[in-house]
Amino acid sequence: MTENTIRTVKVQKIIDECKDVKTLVFNMKISMNENYIIPKPGQFVMVWVPGIDEVPMSLSGCDTDGNWSITVKNVGESTNAMYNLNIGDYIGVRGPLGNHFKLINLSLKEIYLIGGGIGMAPLKFLSNQLTKMNIKHTIIEGVKIENDIMFKDYFQEAITSISEVHYCTDDGSYGIKGVISDIFKEMLNKFNKNDLSNLVVYSCGPEIMLYKLFQICQEHKIEFYASLERIMRCGCGLCGLCTLDPLGLLVCKDGPIFNSDMLKKIEDFGKFKRDFTGYKIPLM
Ligand SMILES: Cc1cc2nc3c(=O)[nH]c(=O)nc-3n(C[C@H](O)[C@H](O)[C@H](O)COP(=O)(O)OP(=O)(O)OC[C@H]3O[C@@H](n4cnc5c(N)ncnc54)[C@H](O)[C@@H]3O)c2cc1C
Repeated sequence: MTENTIRTVKVQKIIDECKDVKTLVFNMKISMNENYIIPKPGQFVMVWVPGIDEVPMSLSGCDTDGNWSITVKNVGESTNAMYNLNIGDYIGVRGPLGNHFKLINLSLKEIYLIGGGIGMAPLKFLSNQLTKMNIKHTIIEGVKIENDIMFKDYFQEAITSISEVHYCTDDGSYGIKGVISDIFKEMLNKFNKNDLSNLVVYSCGPEIMLYKLFQICQEHKIEFYASLERIMRCGCGLCGLCTLDPLGLLVCKDGPIFNSDMLKKIEDFGKFKRDFTGYKIPLM
């Protein structure tokens, strides 16, 4: 079996995260001694619900027993079908696919995980891994309104004394009021200029947010990683819908995680995506 083999698995657990968002847990280990590929934070799976198109979903968690989770936001036909699944229902899962967040010399760094909305899904997995490694990190979760906050119970339990989580809402209904990029910029004031190069930011969320964070990190020479989203049909480099100009990088194979050096060269970043026919359209 390879990462591109579809496995039919049963939904074993469902967690209501917030309005329109649920986490589905399923087991990917078919037998104890099989050649099982362990996923890393940032990787995604293609998920198929019978009768509906297969769509990409980041992994929001994984344990040593082979229980993987995805956290799905109900936005259209496929995600609605996933959102309405029950425990015991079957889904098809292909993965883990794509690259992952690179963790290099993290014990020497000030680590920030910055997620907007459903973009928190892969960062929850990353936070879980850092916590297991006893690595200090700060999470900033930004959403529009209080009802959109996800993983609050999880973070309350999982965060250790060496880590912290900040919530922000656009309307100020919970946590800090404002947009996440402005809030992060303000948080940088507590650092001496020379210490900023010791920061690393891992981010996922709306591309406008990622673009603003990228600009801030460029300005302060902060190491930056962003998980990009593009429409993809195959998840394995065949359909070409997730191509990024001008280098022809594929979000499914070369990404979804890109660092600043790559983002600098991707002219589509923050500006264009492709629709289901492959036409380039402005990002909204
Ligand atoms: C690498 C990656 C990881 C993702 N992780 C998550 C996640 O953890 N949780 C989550 O809820 N969503 C995630 N998404 C987005 C998710 O794939 C789309 O919301 C979903 O495909 C929408 O399908 P739909 O039929 O429900 O909605 P549609 O009505 O078909 O579309 C709704 C919107 O979703 C976008 N979309 C549609 N199909 C795709 C597709 N095949 N690939 C990407 N975007 C699409 C469209 O631009 C459209 O605006 C991820 C996307 C990518 C590329």
